[in-house]
Amino acid sequence: MKTEHSMQLFTDARTLIPGGVNSPVRACRAVGTDPLFVAEASGCTITDVDGNRFVDFVGSWGPMIVGHAHPEVVEAIRSTAGRGTSFGAPSPLEIDLAAEVCAAVPSLEKVRFVNSGTEATMSAVRLARGYTGRKMVVKFDGCYHGHADSFLVKAGSGLITLGIPGSPGVPDDIVKNTISIPYNDEAVLDATLRNPELDIACVIVEPVAGNMGVVPPSETFLQKLRQLTSELGIVLIFDEVITGFRLALGGAQEYFDVTPDLTCLGKIIGGGLPVGAYGGRSDIMDLIAPEGPVYQAGTLSGNPLAMAAGLATLGIVKQPGFYKELEEKSEWFGNALNAVAASLSVPVVLNRVGSMMTCFFTPDPVTDFQSASHAETDLYGEYYRQMRSQGIWLAPSQFEALFVSAAHERKHLEKALVAAESSFKKLM
Ligand code: PLP
Repeated sequence: MKTEHSMQLFTDARTLIPGGVNSPVRACRAVGTDPLFVAEASGCTITDVDGNRFVDFVGSWGPMIVGHAHPEVVEAIRSTAGRGTSFGAPSPLEIDLAAEVCAAVPSLEKVRFVNSGTEATMSAVRLARGYTGRKMVVKFDGCYHGHADSFLVKAGSGLITLGIPGSPGVPDDIVKNTISIPYNDEAVLDATLRNPELDIACVIVEPVAGNMGVVPPSETFLQKLRQLTSELGIVLIFDEVITGFRLALGGAQEYFDVTPDLTCLGKIIGGGLPVGAYGGRSDIMDLIAPEGPVYQAGTLSGNPLAMAAGLATLGIVKQPGFYKELEEKSEWFGNALNAVAASLSVPVVLNRVGSMMTCFFTPDPVTDFQSASHAETDLYGEYYRQMRSQGIWLAPSQFEALFVSAAHERKHLEKALVAAESSFKKLM
């Protein structure tokens, strides 16, 4: 495979951009190689600057559920851009997207748009603290909620990938207000939430964890979380930045039939443009300025291009049968990948919920951060490099999800299976 243009660009990038990338995992360090620079993408195909083509299973880390450069999304962006790209004043598309999102996601009576998932989670936590008058945030080990200070505690992929526990620059005074407990452990959850000495404002959770690799909630975990937080007056926040419009039109809360108080969204609702959102019960949301005293603002929030791309994307996923077809395709692919691994006796565990999955290089079940960290990252690195050399674009970290999109056809999935078989063989 030719990589000279990518290598030159990476050299140039490193002189100007820290690590040569604008988000750390993209640097491919965890998989022992250098990044390839993308020239263009269409459907489920990515083409790099040296002309190599790949079947893409990253989908920009989740947003591209309808595929890259979908004609309806591109046209929506194009026609909106011609009328101006940012107004700093309300515009009709914001109401249209708010209406779509509130109609689809069970917990949303009102929603506020921001520019990233990080802004959404950060603002939701501030709101939960404002609403309850309490201080402490409970999160789960291995869950990632963006890079705001309060969340950089046992925070999943980016940090595990780089082998750092937290981040310098985040004062202890801030971290001490975040408690991180094991995912799927109801006994610890119960004891923590009932501890009268902790002044708990909210619990934030990825209803399906995607940032320690894909880890589904146990059968009763989310129900238990809902029941306890309701009983104790703690705000329950679902971080659906990945799962929103991914698992179902109504996200994980529809999929598992558990309704949180607040929900954070991002990725898919921006159709590939920078967007985030947080929303929930009106009595809580009405505390946000200017209606209430909890401050949150944004120069580009509700940006018309992002709203237009989001609306076009939601228009596609709303079509009857969209999620059923995506589930069938993903189930077929997950089963086939498992079968390939089993036939070669490769010790992997495939965790899948809908169109998100992770192939962990460990023989043992992965149910939380601790079991996820048993995965052999060197093997994943070798697998990644083998797959890439055969035209399959995977996340450059063991602790991320593989996403199937509507643009994947049987031939793309079959190509990935053939590559997986030969990659697995090389690992043994
Ligand atoms: N929450 C979850 C579950 C995420 O996966 C991410 C990003 O991957 C975020 C929040 C942060 O979103 P962003 O990268 O848009 O700030």
